[in-house]
Formats: sequence, C-alpha cells, structure tokens
Amino acid sequence: MLFRQFFDAATGSYTYLLASGIGREALIIDPVKEQVPQYLQAIAQLDLKLLRAIDTHTHADHITGLGDLREATACVTMMGEFTKAECVSECFRDGDIIGIESLQLQARFTPGHTGESFSLVLDPQRPRAVMTGDVLLIRGTGRTDFQSGDAGRSWDSIHEVLLRLPDETLVYPAHDYKGWTVSSIGEERRYNPRLAGKSREQYIELMNALKLPNPKLMDIAVPANLACGRVY
Ligand code: FE
Repeated sequence: MLFRQFFDAATGSYTYLLASGIGREALIIDPVKEQVPQYLQAIAQLDLKLLRAIDTHTHADHITGLGDLREATACVTMMGEFTKAECVSECFRDGDIIGIESLQLQARFTPGHTGESFSLVLDPQRPRAVMTGDVLLIRGTGRTDFQSGDAGRSWDSIHEVLLRLPDETLVYPAHDYKGWTVSSIGEERRYNPRLAGKSREQYIELMNALKLPNPKLMDIAVPANLACGRVY
C-alpha cells in the first residue's frame, strides 16, 4: 500500500494520499487548497491516478483543495451525506464503502466536532487505521462550539464508534499542533486527557468551558468550503 501524510504548517492540517501502490489509482483525504501543487507533484511522480478527493467535514480553519483537485484531475469530490457544500459530486452515508482497487475505506458518521463529520476506517474487516477528521485528535478532541458542534455527540461518536475499533488501529487526525503525527486507538483510550477517567458529563463540561477564539480564517474558510474551495 502507498500511504503519504502531508502537512500544512500554517494551519497544522494533515492530508492523506492513499493508493494500493505506485502507478495505481489513488484517493486523497482532507486536502488543503494551498498545498494542491504539492499533491499534484506527488501524484505525478508516483504515477498515480487520482480518482477521489474526500473531506471528512467542512473545515473552518483552512480552505479545501477539493475544487482545485477536481479541476486538475477530474477526480470525484466526496463528503458525508449531511454536508451543505454545494459542489460535492458524491455523498457517502454511515457504513458505505469507498473502494480504490484493493483498498477499502468505510465511512462512519461521527458528529460532534461538526454536525456532519465522518471518519474513514481503512480496511474495515480488519481495521488498520482510521482517519478521524477533527472528532478525535492525538491527546485531544476537536472543538465542539460551532458549525453544529455538540460535546455530547462528540463523546458518543468517540465512544460508540472510534474507541470500539481494535486498540492497534492507527489514528490519523486532520490536525495536530504539537508535532504528533500518528497515534492508536489504545493509546488514546489510555492517555487522551479529555477522555481517560472522564465521564460524559465531565467531558461536556470541559468542552463547553474551553472558550477558544474563532479560527483566523473561519469567516473566509467556511463559506469557501461550502463552495468547494472557491474564494470570492
Ligand atoms: Fe475541523
């Protein structure tokens, strides 16, 4: 399998490029508009054919690369069924399988960070990895205070979907701000300070008391992302 992680330093965003091998069909998860030239370079140099570009949710801190990638490669753009983005060509539902040659990703509805967030499980029969968007971060969880976020739903998504995956399942989030690149379900169960030893009520209280400033780009990024990355 070919698996590449890209980092956008300005926003701490991770993007994942997956294919069954060099010269094969590929998909990309949570691409950042400014980094599209780098993805296209990798796609060309690894002789990949980009078939799908997926956003786990509507990002508030960066502009999606979905529209630019679709223009450059004619790939299919995808988001979960509850997105309000106008120009997504295909939507997936909870349990749907997104296939690329021998690779399978299963879409799992994991709201909480936003009301329309999905996670993507690689090889659902024997889960190897899960791309969690911002619902579950490494030693953290995604904020729940805008875009129909809800701390109780975040807790439920994390406990009823993500933490039910095998302990060794690797966790690849859409962001990190401290230099972590990958974790595992078992690690997060034991060491995530927002989850370990906490009750649902304590988690909701903690999340509702965060009082984070809005992301710098939010007023630009959310409307742009609802238009697949077009900036007016
Ligand atoms: Fe987010």
